[in-house]
Amino acid sequence: MNQLHTASNLVWQSPQTTPEHRRDLLKQYPVTLWMTGLSGAGKSTLAFALEKRLISQGHACFVLDGDNVRHGLNRDLDFSPHARTENIRRVAEVAKLMNSAGLIVISSFISPYREDRGAARDIIGNEAFLEIHISTALQDCERRDPKGLYQKARAGLISDFTGISAPYEPPLTPALSIDTSSSTVDSCIERMLKLVEPFLIRDNESRCGGS
Ligand code: ADP
Repeated sequence: MNQLHTASNLVWQSPQTTPEHRRDLLKQYPVTLWMTGLSGAGKSTLAFALEKRLISQGHACFVLDGDNVRHGLNRDLDFSPHARTENIRRVAEVAKLMNSAGLIVISSFISPYREDRGAARDIIGNEAFLEIHISTALQDCERRDPKGLYQKARAGLISDFTGISAPYEPPLTPALSIDTSSSTVDSCIERMLKLVEPFLIRDNESRCGGS
């Protein structure tokens, strides 16, 4: 892979709109809910259910989902540690762009390395980055095996599979930890909604700034 570099003859172009304009337009403060956890833990299920709920409440949001992003932007990346790092870096940059556009981003990536998630936090900005650990235990994920991947990994048909033949480093201080083996999807969504609530501006609330 090419080394990252900052091109020299580039000049940052300043927009004529401000984040406050977008905040007032969309009635929300942009944020990225960064979901991390094992395959089968429930990240995608919860991400899309939360997205549906927020959209139905009139909030602009978008799910960045691991498998979906690997169909396009990150189709050139495998599951080696180096490629996983690049996967997360690119996704964090996209999340940052989407936040800059005023959107609430729900990202659903195994993102197994603490250091990579820390780098994502640095790219997105600490105030806009909420880490959610979908902490469902390996044995429960493996019992579910929604995509049949654990079976393949155990049979040696998939290498570098998180939890089986590749490591997972759980967050030390997540904003929220959800074990989906002991809760319904609805109750998990309620907990995530509580977390995002401070970023939503209701119609009857007065808004400051944003001239
Ligand atoms: P991931 O995106 O983490 O790989 P998925 O969302 O693809 O996981 O798969 C999780 C599986 O667990 C799905 O089959 C889903 O229906 C099931 N499941 C059962 N209970 C829950 C719950 N409370 N939250 C999320 N998923 C759940």
